[in-house]
Amino acid sequence: MPRPILATINTAALAHNLARMRSAAPDARIWAIVKANAYGHGIERAFEGLRSADGFALLDLTEAQRLRALDWRGPILLLEGCFDARDLELCSRLNLWHVVHCNEQIDMLAAHKTQVPHRVFLKMNSGMNRLGFTPQRYRAAWTRLIALPQVEEISLMTHFSDADGPKGVAAQLAAFYAVTHDLPGERSFSNSAGALRHGHELAARSDWIRPGIAVYGSSPDFPTKSAADWGLQPAMTLASKIIGLQTLQAGDTVGYGSSFTADGPLRIGVVACGYADGYPRHCTTGTPVLVGGVRTRMVGRVSMDMITIDLTPVPVAGMGSEVTLWGRSTAGTVLAVDEVARAGGTVAYELMCALAQRVPVVVET
Ligand SMILES: *Cc1c(COP(=O)(O)O)cnc(C)c1O
Repeated sequence: MPRPILATINTAALAHNLARMRSAAPDARIWAIVKANAYGHGIERAFEGLRSADGFALLDLTEAQRLRALDWRGPILLLEGCFDARDLELCSRLNLWHVVHCNEQIDMLAAHKTQVPHRVFLKMNSGMNRLGFTPQRYRAAWTRLIALPQVEEISLMTHFSDADGPKGVAAQLAAFYAVTHDLPGERSFSNSAGALRHGHELAARSDWIRPGIAVYGSSPDFPTKSAADWGLQPAMTLASKIIGLQTLQAGDTVGYGSSFTADGPLRIGVVACGYADGYPRHCTTGTPVLVGGVRTRMVGRVSMDMITIDLTPVPVAGMGSEVTLWGRSTAGTVLAVDEVARAGGTVAYELMCALAQRVPVVVET
């Protein structure tokens, strides 16, 4: 028998979450963000659940090729644009739309020979200070681009740094609007947090939203709001089984570093899941976990291939009992990936993307 760990990608949950995002911005079209191999879910595995998206956005050209190989003929957007001149050949050949965020990319485009002019998204750095033209330089970039025969149409975009937090989007939106209010073209601003939390500020001016994390069923502003609060369903479940049992007495410790000490008799389940499977090593005693759908806690340290859990709330649990590390248990109980991420001092994005190669994955519809 193979080691019992298994990740399950739920197509119906992806479709549900996409529909949820559509209801948050009913007048906008949706770029389903599938960068990083669909946030660790696998582009091919997630595709069926996401095919009602209006387009797919990602960074890697190989991922764009994989989408075309799935026979996706609709829009694909390269969120960081082209990294070198040869990438433009592929954009022409596969009909990829691309972000333009710097002058070097305009130079490449000006030198590119193409029969079909390109659709580009001109990115403003409105305060995030990663990619994009500053407000002062944005119009000059637009003017240069619009003069190029290689360019068919320019859409305008920016990215918010604080859509999930108290600072909000108002200042960035004002900076964007001040420079672009009289420019033609479609607009794109919002990630998941922007669309869910700031829809009212953006509705009139947003043609494309760009949700990623919410589509995969994680809350963009946890713990302010949970995925359930937002009406999102987990698209990824990581499950395993109990492969060993121990009974501790007061004073006994568990695992490396003896970081957990029992203060009385305690039944411990040993689970086939460790940091080499992508389970966060920074999780420690108290991290929530489900056994047979019942919530309990991890105790001690995460090892490479195992974790240890307190079986007190589930006396019926034994060898082979189902353990849900995150997602939905067979019993239907949900453990939000956001809770586990928080216990490990990180975010659900990282947990999903870090699902290890050695974990087998199945798709359920
Ligand atoms: C990753 C990304 C998104 C999606 O962000 P989420 O927080 O996952 O919704 C949107 N826009 C851009 C430019 C991105 O890089």
